[in-house]
Amino acid sequence: MIESGDQRLRQREYLLQISRAMTAQLDLISVLSLVISYAVEMTAGTSGLIALYDEDGNDELRIRASAHLTRQDWPAFARLLTLPISELPRRGEAVLREIAADTGLTLRQMIALPLVLRDTPVGVIYVFRAALNVAFSADDRQVLQDFADQAAIAVSNARLYQSVLREKQRLDASIEQSADGVMIIDSRWRIVTFNKAMEQLTGWSREEAIGRPCAEVLAIQSPQGTNICLVDCPLNRLPYTPNPVVEGRIATRDGRELFVQSRYAPQRGPQGQFLGAIANVRDITTQKQEEQLQNTFISVISHELKTPVSIIKGYAGTLRRDDVSFTPEQYREGLAVIEDEADRLARHIQDLLDVSRLTAGGLRLEQTDFALAMLAADVVRGFAATAGEHYKFELRFPDDMPPVHADYERVRQVLSNLVSNAVKYSPEGGVIRLGGWAEGDFAVCYVADQGVGIPPEEQAAIFRRFYRVDNRLSRETQGSGLGLFLTRAIVEAHGGRIWVESQVGKGSRFVFTLPLGRRRLVDEAGQAEVREE
Ligand code: ADP
Repeated sequence: MIESGDQRLRQREYLLQISRAMTAQLDLISVLSLVISYAVEMTAGTSGLIALYDEDGNDELRIRASAHLTRQDWPAFARLLTLPISELPRRGEAVLREIAADTGLTLRQMIALPLVLRDTPVGVIYVFRAALNVAFSADDRQVLQDFADQAAIAVSNARLYQSVLREKQRLDASIEQSADGVMIIDSRWRIVTFNKAMEQLTGWSREEAIGRPCAEVLAIQSPQGTNICLVDCPLNRLPYTPNPVVEGRIATRDGRELFVQSRYAPQRGPQGQFLGAIANVRDITTQKQEEQLQNTFISVISHELKTPVSIIKGYAGTLRRDDVSFTPEQYREGLAVIEDEADRLARHIQDLLDVSRLTAGGLRLEQTDFALAMLAADVVRGFAATAGEHYKFELRFPDDMPPVHADYERVRQVLSNLVSNAVKYSPEGGVIRLGGWAEGDFAVCYVADQGVGIPPEEQAAIFRRFYRVDNRLSRETQGSGLGLFLTRAIVEAHGGRIWVESQVGKGSRFVFTLPLGRRRLVDEAGQAEVREE
């Protein structure tokens, strides 16, 4: 009696240890090893095994833990695992004898019970005895059942844990691969997850960002320059909205300035208390620039188109007056102004059409071979007649310069734009020089002036649509900021490049390249087309 009371105490103690081991999150194999060694001890066995079915459901048992058996012994037990439990009482003893003969172990009796998880068998627990004289009792069976139940729970825990882990890994991977920046913050607004796109967006590394307040890492600024995340966090605005959104500028850690949109999915407790949130952050800089361009476009258009129209209307109205008599000279002058302004209007409209054509899918070129020097001379003639005496025009093209292969009218537009700018941005006058030479497959051509020049930080921007350097001169001169954009588009459509070399106060030199032409040389057979070098 006393002995069996002791036994029960010990068993309870062991079962308790097993549950502790499970909650301490020991790995499954360690827990199963503990289960089998206690089960062997409690049922006075000499050794034992726990085998589990593969999770992929192919009904194959594999040994996962043993007591008083070495791993080298395991393969010998494989034939036992192939017997269904119901067959063990009939055929088990014979198989056990075979194993004993092979391994040299003394195995004379066996007891085996299925590990069952919610009616599904997940494995089998086996205990062996060396002695033949004492048979396994119903009590032993009951004890082993308790251990089998524990083992089944351990398997269940491990599988649950594995599936949660897999789920988490899947989630982590999709967060990591998301093209948007994704950041998860906890109830204290501290960052707990920070994906790769977020690192690229903000310039903060994950290691630096995690644990920091989100308002420090993603400091979105209002137009007035305050940190919105700090002073007016969208997650705190009342009434709470399910997906608050905030937009604004950020200065990245690596010194870029971006415009971002951050959309939050907050989690709240029953009283509305903040539990954490997922933030999706997107770079909308280009979109904002487009919007800004659109606004500039409208103001430029209204200004640039309205000015000539009002001049034309003013002059026409004046010339029509019955109460004033004009001399023929005054008439001519008035009409000349009307004609000039109408031309200007037509040019603007043409530029706008070109821009929209470009945006819609590129320029179509009609390329022929022609001498650039001739075209340059023609363009210069037009400007020299109107520019004023304080401008001097010079042409510097070598006599033997090969022809270019380009669209004549489009190249005229390029030269006109560059020369018109050279005049416009040289208020004091000076020399305006056009020249060129051949280099490899290209003609290099330039238009140089001695005007106001362009600061280095503006030199790339002036080729952008509607961009005008913000200074007194550009405010005083008319312009749409389309000239250089179109000029570059035309040059690039020819496969050429354009750039500017400039010094403030000294002048600018716009240089561009165009493909050289082919001189058709007919060889003696009268067929071949030879490229001139
Ligand atoms: P627009 O002349 O109509 O303003 P452009 O696209 O032709 O537009 O030129 C863009 C800007 O580049 C001008 O506003 C001006 O500030 C600058 N720029 C262009 N050419 C020159 C030049 N030769 N010298 C100095 N600044 C220039």
